[in-house]
Amino acid sequence: MFDNLSERLEGVVTKMRRKGRLSVVDIEAALKEIRLALLEADVNLEVVRKFTSRIREAAVSEATSRALTPAQQIVKLVNEELKATLGGDAFRLTFASSPPTVIMLVGLQGSGKTTAAAKLALHLRRQGRHPLLVGADLARPAAVEQLRILSESAKVDFFSETTSPIEVARAGLNRAKSLGRDILIVDTAGRLAVDADLMAEMVAIEDAVSPDYVFLVIDAMTGQDALNTANAFAEAVNLSGTILTKLDGDARGGAALSVVEVTGKKIAFSSIGEKLEDFDSFYPDRMANRILGMGDVLTLIEKAERNLDKDVAERGAKKIQAGKFDLEDFMEQMQQVKKMGPLKGIISMLPGIPKEIKDADIDEGELTKIEAIISSMTRQERRDPGLIDASRRNRIAKGSGSTPTAVSNLLKQFRDMQKMMRQMGLGGPSPTKKNIAS
Ligand code: GDP
Repeated sequence: MFDNLSERLEGVVTKMRRKGRLSVVDIEAALKEIRLALLEADVNLEVVRKFTSRIREAAVSEATSRALTPAQQIVKLVNEELKATLGGDAFRLTFASSPPTVIMLVGLQGSGKTTAAAKLALHLRRQGRHPLLVGADLARPAAVEQLRILSESAKVDFFSETTSPIEVARAGLNRAKSLGRDILIVDTAGRLAVDADLMAEMVAIEDAVSPDYVFLVIDAMTGQDALNTANAFAEAVNLSGTILTKLDGDARGGAALSVVEVTGKKIAFSSIGEKLEDFDSFYPDRMANRILGMGDVLTLIEKAERNLDKDVAERGAKKIQAGKFDLEDFMEQMQQVKKMGPLKGIISMLPGIPKEIKDADIDEGELTKIEAIISSMTRQERRDPGLIDASRRNRIAKGSGSTPTAVSNLLKQFRDMQKMMRQMGLGGPSPTKKNIAS
């Protein structure tokens, strides 16, 4: 996501590192590069103009600041400007005093609207809310069924019927009230392009259920094209904000960095993958940090809090300290990490990680193979890998569909890890190598 833009902006900063102080010439040179970087990322021309002129103003007035180096000053200014362009303070969803809070999703077909409806429902359910999902997209026959299946995975209630989209939305609202649900999420018909009939239908649904929020779902990969249609939606309905999807792809950044200016509304949520969990509130400051290669440790911590079982983590830590960390613990901890999603995503949130490592191909299947090998061991073997001799090794290889070499490699890696733990003063028994097949 936004790789080229990040790289270009980091390049601007690197050049400034060599400067003693910020001169007007330096500022102009940096601005020229920032402008090019933004244009290449397909950012709206007007946004680029405002972005650079505000940095110019701020840079000139701060040029005498001695507290920061020129590179730090540029990072600070670009970071602040990125944050402002992405909407400034994060969007906050507040809940209606008389439930349900009605949320309506609109957008082009394929933008990820139906999946976003289910993702939003899960997101809110995890905050202790009780959403009802309503399938009012009767134009695409499979859409209602898709939403029904997704609602099952998200463990939220679902409603639809084969009357008319307006009737479905209205009946959905009544259903939410009678069931005592506090959130109603209405998925409306997608469209391939802006189309007068469907626009009229959208407005009629809006009239029928008076939503508290109308979110426009935008595919970040479609760049500025998406924004032309965003304008049409913004004119037809009372937009509250946008939901950006497919930020996990190689979107250049243009849509994300232009949408606030074009629609005049904040980005409320973002979707970063196909899974229901790949969805979160959108935080302009965190995104600005990520674009500048400063990582996103806050999101990582929240992800860990949501996905990791504290007891399991503590158990692992205690075992390590006591030098009793065995393969069974290793597998338990590995399963925890897997719950946090693809490793590539986790790594990209860490600050200061070189691009080569971020781009390196990480074989997620490797974790599954390791899991299979450990699962094929007996409990005794997992607790004391020293028991594994050549014949046990062959049995484990067969059972896990791997090779004896793969088993040996895993055992060696585990021994190395134990050695490292001991070197870090984390206790642990002396290696009992005699029986280990390697
Ligand atoms: P709709 O026509 O707007 O309702 O779009 P769908 O919800 O059916 O999504 C279209 C396609 O985009 C589906 O294959 C989704 O799995 C995929 N998709 C949706 N959101 C994301 C996302 O954030 N990342 C990725 N990689 N794919 C997504």
